[in-house]
Amino acid sequence: MNLNKKMSKREFLTHMVTVTGTAVVAVQMLKSSAGAQEKRRGAKTDTPAKETDLPLVEPGKGTADALAYHHSHADADKDPKTDKKTDKGVAWDKRFCNNCSFYAKVGDKDGKPVGKCSLFPKVLVADQGICNSWAKKA
Ligand code: SF4
Repeated sequence: MNLNKKMSKREFLTHMVTVTGTAVVAVQMLKSSAGAQEKRRGAKTDTPAKETDLPLVEPGKGTADALAYHHSHADADKDPKTDKKTDKGVAWDKRFCNNCSFYAKVGDKDGKPVGKCSLFPKVLVADQGICNSWAKKA
């Protein structure tokens, strides 16, 4: 190879495009690597670190309102939408989220036991909560 050979304009431009393209790819790889390192160090993401970090469902809003969900029987008693009459094989006053087939305990939040309900996927329900969709465990 002749090192003294002059580069044609086309060769020079091709070379520059290759060098520039390689630099852009390298910068993208560095950015991606930095992002991965931040995640490993525990930087904030949209997903809570623990399930107990999820918010508690708000009675009277959206699905909670439609299902007459309440954190306690005392509150459910005051709601005219609460269905105590439907026979579900267990007396109404013995039904709680913690013995419902849709419930899975995840831990304590603010000193009270809470769990996940498959009808409220992005929030927590109270262990002593109740709603009209309560179902007896099989
Ligand atoms: S479906 Fe069951 S676990 Fe879910 S809110 Fe209603 S009573 Fe609680």
